[in-house]
Amino acid sequence: MKNKTTIGFIGLGNMGAPMAANLVEAGHRVRGFDLVPAAVESASARGVEAAASAAEAVRGAEAVITMLPAGEQVRAAYLGEDGLIAAAEAGSLLIDSSTIDVASARAVHEAAAAAGHPMLDAPVSGGVAGAEAATLTFMCGGAEPAFARARPLLEAMGRNIVHAGGPGNGQAAKLCNNMILGISMLACAEAFTLGEKLGLDPKTLFEISSVSSGACWAMLNHNPVPGVVEGSAANRDYRPGFAAAMMQKDLKLSQMAASQAGAATPLGAAATALYTLFVNAGNGGLDYAGIIKLIRGE
Ligand code: NAD
Repeated sequence: MKNKTTIGFIGLGNMGAPMAANLVEAGHRVRGFDLVPAAVESASARGVEAAASAAEAVRGAEAVITMLPAGEQVRAAYLGEDGLIAAAEAGSLLIDSSTIDVASARAVHEAAAAAGHPMLDAPVSGGVAGAEAATLTFMCGGAEPAFARARPLLEAMGRNIVHAGGPGNGQAAKLCNNMILGISMLACAEAFTLGEKLGLDPKTLFEISSVSSGACWAMLNHNPVPGVVEGSAANRDYRPGFAAAMMQKDLKLSQMAASQAGAATPLGAAATALYTLFVNAGNGGLDYAGIIKLIRGE
């Protein structure tokens, strides 16, 4: 792809707006659309050209990027007579960075391929902070030529760009990774709560476990006990960070996929139920490390 690409960017929310702004910063021409006019306005203050519709945003664009809430919105945006696949220029590259179910991702890939569009599902990890700092991790599913073509654009928004395999495999990697994270956060919450009840200082348990076989990313970086690791949301009353509602969404996607694929994920199922209890109790806006409150019975 040549240096300056014209990109249609659909979905200028918490993640999409800074991602689109980073593409502008990298020298690309970005034409943006969102259903919420205020989102378009604030993106245009960051150099994104405002479009009046999704079809207008992708007219003349060599690449289309979507950052939408869930599978339902992605299918609605891409498919059908008025969808992006029909509206996009012949041969333009389609990249969906939303976190969605694998089945929807594969359905959109199939329609894109039938219409001659190379496509990638490219969900991200890194949150709003990563989107602002252009340090996201992109997990990409699709054919190698589509991945090669997308790479320079993804590099303007992220640091780790990984090809996870064929269509839908980006979403598969994302939900498997977040299932590990959800389960391991619960393991930490249980172990640190038990340790406290047994009279162990959480800092001492951390000192031991962080260099022992119990060490894991959630414990080392997002420890659920306040005052144990720097930067954890536990130190700021569980203000996110990575919201529990987002973790619940990703865990639910893991369970949809497990059921469709016939995989047994009993701990994933338990984690989904526990995060649902936590979110339904009004805690969806807290960081996912806040699940320790549920375990403690707070
Ligand atoms: P958001 O709700 O802030 O943004 C989504 C935007 O899409 C909204 O502005 C909405 O108006 C717009 N939209 C919905 N349907 C549309 C349509 N048909 N056409 C145009 N615009 C439409 O959500 P977000 O936090 O930016 O997240 C986007 C995606 O990224 C989600 O799938 C989420 O799971 C994933 N994600 C989010 C984070 C995070 O920390 N926020 C981290 C990783 C992945």
